[in-house]
Parts: sequence; structure tokens; C-alpha cells
Amino acid sequence: MKFIASEFDSNSIKVGVSACVVGQPVRFDGGHKQSTFAQSDLSPFVEYVPVCPEVAIGMGVPRPTIRLVDHDGDIRVQGSTKKEIDVTEDLRAFSHEQVTHLNGLSGYIVCAKSPTCGFQRIKIYHPEGHLLTNDSAGVYTQALMKAHPLLPIEDNGRLCDPVLKENFVTRVFAYHDWQTMVASGITPQKMVEFHSRYKFLVMANHVPSYRMLGELLGDLKRAPLEDIADEYIAGLMFALTQRPGRKGNTNALMHLQGYFKRFIGSDERQALADVIDKYRVGELPLMAPITLLRHLLVKFPNQYLSQQVYLKPYPDKLALRNLL
Ligand code: SF4
Repeated sequence: MKFIASEFDSNSIKVGVSACVVGQPVRFDGGHKQSTFAQSDLSPFVEYVPVCPEVAIGMGVPRPTIRLVDHDGDIRVQGSTKKEIDVTEDLRAFSHEQVTHLNGLSGYIVCAKSPTCGFQRIKIYHPEGHLLTNDSAGVYTQALMKAHPLLPIEDNGRLCDPVLKENFVTRVFAYHDWQTMVASGITPQKMVEFHSRYKFLVMANHVPSYRMLGELLGDLKRAPLEDIADEYIAGLMFALTQRPGRKGNTNALMHLQGYFKRFIGSDERQALADVIDKYRVGELPLMAPITLLRHLLVKFPNQYLSQQVYLKPYPDKLALRNLL
């Protein structure tokens, strides 16, 4: 039986990226912030769309550093030391224009700590120079999030964490899968088939969403299909941001185990139960029970289980589940 979820079209997944994160020397000092994960590990599977907003508005390299400054609620982008520099309007205009052209992206990797590209914990200063807060996003990334609220976004710093990295990549591949389905024309049957493939992944991540999404698709005649589709993908992307941990994964694995019990022998049943339990207590990585389940599927083919995205949410070469 063909393992449907193993098919990935490596050239069509477009991911936006801060240009400095993929090694372009565009930082204020002529350097870069190259991420090994972005540049080496993920790059064979995606097509990057690099953007440097500060260079795009003509600030040049090298250039003075900038930061966010709160003038009575009006957040300006000003020079850190050269306070006469104010690129607020240029940066806002570029950001709003640029993000409208990014509909085909399936994810975005931004540069941490930047007042332009940062995703979280960006500092805002008082005009006198002291720190006010550190809970903002950069100007460009704010526009990006507003225009594309479902787009998976992470920064190069957070992607050093194996859990956040795996979660981001899962969301990028899922979002691309959805975009591909939508581009082919949504039908009730395609919606149901799509959800069917994601059941165990959603179950692992967030059980309430698993129930909610099932109910959402229970009556596809109650509203226009496009409206239900919008609701569905918002619910799915929310569910996938809820990181499953060992508890959520063990729950999904045990449900998968329940399916297998019907057609595997007692020795294989025991071996599967042992591996799942060793994963549960932290003695084995997630890839161990997943590999065993996939092996059992080769021996005991089952179409419903074979197409579960949970068993292969992205190419194995990324090896992200070896660290979970
Ligand atoms: S963080 Fe953004 S603005 Fe700064 S150098 Fe990188 S791409 Fe350019």
C-alpha cells in the first residue's frame, strides 16, 4: 500500500524569511544572522522568499541602528543614537504594501529581537531613552501577522528549541497542504477527506479542537462551504499551535494502538504497548513508536491509518521527532 502522507512536493512550499537569517549580509553592520536550521536543514524542502525591509526602504548597509520609541502611544521607529532619524512612515508603508503580496506563503521565519522583523518581546523605549516594555513585535512582522493571521511564524531564536521547531515545521506543512487543497477547488468531499487525514495529529495536539472540528464538519449544508472552510482552517491552525507534549502524543498513539489491536498478533501488540509506554516515560523519542506503527502498517495495510498525517507530518530527513 502506498504511504500517502509520505508524498511531499519539495519545491512548492514557499516560506518567507528575514534576509539576514538566510545569510544575506544586510544587517546594520554588514553582517547576517544565519540560522543553520533555516539555511541547511529546512532549505531542501522549501523555497525561501527573503525580505529585508530596512534595506528595501533605502536605509543601506551599513546603517545606523533603530528602535521603537513610544511618543504618547504613537510608536515611532527612530535612530537608537541618532534620534533625528525617523523611518516610521517608510517602514509602515513598505510593510503594508509588501505583506499584501505574500498570499502564497506557507510560513515565515523572522529575525529575533529586531524592531522591524522581531516576532515577540521587542523592546519599546521612552523618548528619554529608558526601557518601557519588551512585549511588542517589529513593525514589519506586526503588519505580516495582521494581514495573515493564520500564517505560521517563528523567529530564528525560538527555532533553536526542538519542540518549537518541530511545531513550526508541522504547521508549515499542514498549512501548505490546506492551501494546495483549496487551490484545487474546495468540495464537501475534499474537506471531509482532508480532516480525516488530520484526525490523529489534531487529537495529539488539542483534544477540544479535535471534537470541535469534527462537529464543524458534521453538517456542511448549514452555511456556505467557503465560510465553513474558513472556520475549519482557523480551528486547525489554532489546534496545531497547541504543542502536544508526551501526554498528547501518548493519547494519540494509544488510539492508533486501538486500531491495530484488531489485526495484529499478541507479540506485536505487546511490543507496541511497550514502545508507547517507554515513550510516555521519556525513555524513547517520539520517532520510536511512530516507526513501529509505520512498520506495522507495511505488514498490515490499512488505508485510513496510512494516510494519517500524524505518522509523517513532514519529510523524515528533518529528523525533528528524534528529539521529542
Ligand atoms: S532583521 Fe529584518 S530588517 Fe534587520 S537585517 Fe534582518 S531582514 Fe533586515
